[in-house]
Amino acid sequence: MSLNSDWQSFLSGLNSIFLPGKIIPMSVEKFLQIALSIGSRYYLVAGVYFLIFYVLFRRALSSKKIQAAFPANKDYLREMAYSFGTIILFAAVPIFIVQNPAVRPYTTLYDRMNEMGWGYYWFAYLLMFLMHDTYFYWAHRIMHHPSIFKWVHKVHHLSTNPSPWAAYAFHPLESIVETGIFVLFVFTIPVHQSHIYLFFFFSIIYNAYGHLGWELYPAGFSKTWIGKWINTSVSHNQHHKYFKGNYGLYLLFWDRIMGTLREDYDATFEKVKQKT
Ligand SMILES: [Zn+2]
Ligand SMILES: [Zn+2]
Repeated sequence: MSLNSDWQSFLSGLNSIFLPGKIIPMSVEKFLQIALSIGSRYYLVAGVYFLIFYVLFRRALSSKKIQAAFPANKDYLREMAYSFGTIILFAAVPIFIVQNPAVRPYTTLYDRMNEMGWGYYWFAYLLMFLMHDTYFYWAHRIMHHPSIFKWVHKVHHLSTNPSPWAAYAFHPLESIVETGIFVLFVFTIPVHQSHIYLFFFFSIIYNAYGHLGWELYPAGFSKTWIGKWINTSVSHNQHHKYFKGNYGLYLLFWDRIMGTLREDYDATFEKVKQKT
């Protein structure tokens, strides 16, 4: 038996455990492929931030850190371990939807990039951005309800001084909530596979920046006409530190109109940017 056929029988063995009756041929191989794609995105992006800020320039940049203390090694490990679980869950969902011939015809996915026209192709990114920002804000606020907080969202808040590794540090129940945006996309608006790929790549870059521990926007930004509406690392860091207020993801739109932006946000932003 060749190595390759060993691998094939290993996969089909797993496949029949994973999905009895083999409804989806080779779904395990596809699952591993998707998990690798989501995982490499997370480890690459969070890893680059971590390498630059926590390793290479740790000393030079430490005085500018939003919270002066550094997380302990066990905090990084916990964040990575929960994120690993999230990656597995995120990768499983497309298997049951996009890769499932019984479900895929009901999705709004399309195959050729120019099928909907290039105008729509680029507009879809804006739509995804606004949909995700809205979905995240409201799901996040619901997860802070005292009756469910400790079952769903508390794991993410174990990081009171987050590092970029916290980007996907969710309890499995929260991972399911967070993957809801993917499900929403593929059942409501026409999307190409490249939309999914590029959008979630952008998303992890912004998400990891929100947990970075340093502010990258310039001094005064939070008070500019555009900066007023954009979420920052200071804002999300405050959310992790105090648990209350600043629930947004990419924008501060919902926080501002719902009155959930912390009153000390602008002052804290400036205080952080004044650090030398
Ligand atoms: Zn929260
Ligand atoms: Zn967070």
